[in-house]
Amino acid sequence: MMRQQELVERVRRYDPSADEAALNKAYIFSMRAHKSQKRASGDPFFSHPVEVACILSEKKLDSASIVTGLLHDTVEDTLATLPDIEGRFGKEIARLVDGVTKLSRLDLQSGGTRQAENFRKLVLAMSDDIRVLVVKLADRLHNMRTLHHIKNNDKRRRIALETMEIYVPLAQRIGIRDWQNELEDHAFRELNPDARESITKRLAFLHSGSDDVTSRIIDTLRVDLAKAGLEADVHGREKTPHSIWRKMQRKSASLEQLHDVMAFRIVVRTTEECYKALGCIHSTYPLVAGRFKDYISLPKQNGYQSIHTDVIGPENQRIEMQIRTLDMHDVAELGVAAHWQFKEGVKLIRRTEGRQYRWLRELLEILENAGGPEEFLEHTRMEMFSDQLFCFSPKGDLQVLPKGATPIDFAYAVHTDVGNRCVGAKINGRMMPLRTLLKNGDQVEVMTSESQVPSLGWASFVVTAKARSCIRRFVRLQRIDEYCRMGREIINKIFQQEGYVLTQTAMQGILSDFGCDTVESLYSLVGRGEVGGHQILKSVYPTAKTGRSLKLSEDVAVTRAGEHSIELTGLAPGMEINFGDCCHPLPGDRIIGISTTGKGITIHTIDCEALESVAEMPERWMEANWSIDDKKSSVFVGRVRIILANEAGALGSLSTVVGRDGGNISNLRITDRSPDFFELFVDIEVSDSGHMSDIIAALRATEVVRGAERAGR
Ligand code: MN
Repeated sequence: MMRQQELVERVRRYDPSADEAALNKAYIFSMRAHKSQKRASGDPFFSHPVEVACILSEKKLDSASIVTGLLHDTVEDTLATLPDIEGRFGKEIARLVDGVTKLSRLDLQSGGTRQAENFRKLVLAMSDDIRVLVVKLADRLHNMRTLHHIKNNDKRRRIALETMEIYVPLAQRIGIRDWQNELEDHAFRELNPDARESITKRLAFLHSGSDDVTSRIIDTLRVDLAKAGLEADVHGREKTPHSIWRKMQRKSASLEQLHDVMAFRIVVRTTEECYKALGCIHSTYPLVAGRFKDYISLPKQNGYQSIHTDVIGPENQRIEMQIRTLDMHDVAELGVAAHWQFKEGVKLIRRTEGRQYRWLRELLEILENAGGPEEFLEHTRMEMFSDQLFCFSPKGDLQVLPKGATPIDFAYAVHTDVGNRCVGAKINGRMMPLRTLLKNGDQVEVMTSESQVPSLGWASFVVTAKARSCIRRFVRLQRIDEYCRMGREIINKIFQQEGYVLTQTAMQGILSDFGCDTVESLYSLVGRGEVGGHQILKSVYPTAKTGRSLKLSEDVAVTRAGEHSIELTGLAPGMEINFGDCCHPLPGDRIIGISTTGKGITIHTIDCEALESVAEMPERWMEANWSIDDKKSSVFVGRVRIILANEAGALGSLSTVVGRDGGNISNLRITDRSPDFFELFVDIEVSDSGHMSDIIAALRATEVVRGAERAGR
């Protein structure tokens, strides 16, 4: 284990401006926090963060990263808390440690290959400071180096699989080549020890057979290049066992058929020299067709640049060749780490200026506006997945949601039924409102209830198409249900009132009159007010006498106002009395009678607008008064105009409120519908205007009712 002073000196060697005090403090803090904890190997746990810090110092990272490496397991595994860290080391370190801690909590949640891609995105999205990811990779690298100490086979395998699927591609993504290779090799050893063993042995055999072919080829190439006036570093390298294995699987070829097991790298000083070297190689050795790639003029997305070509080499065997400059080589080996090297202690050398590194360019653009290396790293945000969110179920299943998603979206993403029954949600173990915006890595536990139904209100804040369409569909179906219930009530009431029996058979018999297929759809026609209840009665019993004052228009209320309830001055016996459907007078209202030849007398409230049309005809005006017989309970129908929120269950609460106050809805008609509310006219049976006022007051006190008033007044 590296001693405190060694580590600090090592960092100061490449970064004289490193925060020495912070490094010392972190070393001691971590040592004390981990105290007597042990690793699976039996080593003190503290050796792990020190090793991670060492690995990071090999990449010449800034002191904040090294400090984070030392502290990265303290919050998760010791009594230390994030506020502790912030108090001692400041906001920046606390943020980095928090980031690594969060990433570590994701470990071993990834189930199966299906989710690997999403997991990689998640890790990237959560590494909003690239140093978080780099520290996490160093952590994983040390854990893989010591993987064999873990006794549990399953656990070892899961860690190796996760490394292969998640961390190897991430190391590649940010271009730290040697970490990528080493992580991959450790994982390969665990996941497929036999394959790795046989490839390694075979490679050893292939090379032991002859004297050192690699060195001979290197020497020959160096001479060839020197003849062309090029001073070049030539390296021979073997592919990693895993990359050979992958190739063998892909091509289902044996190891002997894989001629390009040998690869050579030529490193020169300038880009022009790269092409000069290429010309030299191509003019000396036969080219293998279809294997030439120029990543110098067209760099890979991670900034990688090189010329690749395959030739039949000096020993008559096929070899793979990479040609690049030293700068390109650094980028290939160190990836993003190559870009934060220090000069004169403070300044960051931008080694990629003016080049074609597309991905790094984006990072470097941030640098343009940042002061020093710290600020550069801090602002290096991984924004490629900024429009996506990754959240977990308590079991660790991953859901990918768009930014702005809520627990309702999450619930519908799990299953439609889960969404429909959602009553609440715990986010990271805490009960939170359903409209809470989810964040990356949130664990969401959806609470459901059998009796819960979706609310149309949810549609205003969900962001996924699935949630929205499920909610709308449910509300629509539910409303049909409600119309149906309401229609049945209205029809029942009218039949009862008029002394007829309503039977299912009778209803079946008239379906075709209204173009309906089912009794339910006929009920809902009535519930929606498209067919009047009395039309149903008339259809079943065409000869039904429905009372003197009853008109059969669907708009007109039914009333049982008998001849005894109104006193009219000068009333001729036998004259028919109607109530105006403009104002729906109720006992208690001041009224007036208007006679119409052949149609009897119509009663209006005295403020009814309809009276204007007869204002010039005083001969038709008749004094009228209510004459209610208290012993006989009379029922009158008043009409109310209601503005109702367009929500599931709104009609239900309307009928509940009316019923609670002793009213009966005898008919209703919806006259206006918008996404937010609808306007409807409801006919309610009441005893008098006072009763109606009570009901209106109760309606106005109801949440879903946005407005209620007597109609026609
Ligand atoms: Mn660790």
